[in-house]
Amino acid sequence: MLDIEKNVRNLQVTGINCNIWLKIIPSRKKAFLFHVRTGHCRLNAHMFRKLKLTPSPTCPCGLEDQTPEHVLMTCPQLKPIRDKVWPASVPLRTKLYGSRQDLEATTSFVSQTKLMV
Ligand SMILES: [Zn+2]
Repeated sequence: MLDIEKNVRNLQVTGINCNIWLKIIPSRKKAFLFHVRTGHCRLNAHMFRKLKLTPSPTCPCGLEDQTPEHVLMTCPQLKPIRDKVWPASVPLRTKLYGSRQDLEATTSFVSQTKLMV
């Protein structure tokens, strides 16, 4: 079993069947979603606080730290892409732990932002 799959199986996510999730999402997207879910990703907040590899945790928009939640929910610079992917409001939990369709939308969104996650 890959480490990433082992880690995902160990996630304590109430109401989510990780075994089904593991079977239907390709490996690359699984790794990507795992990074976004845990916050251990290449966004500025993690790169600054944990790895000291960026000069600031702040998003290029300047409003908040660049976290997965900020990117997925509120960053004004990404609003056009967010509105295209999710024309109606979608909760963060759904974007991170929803159905296969929800997770495909999340991976599509981040891919379109061209952010390294
Ligand atoms: Zn921002």
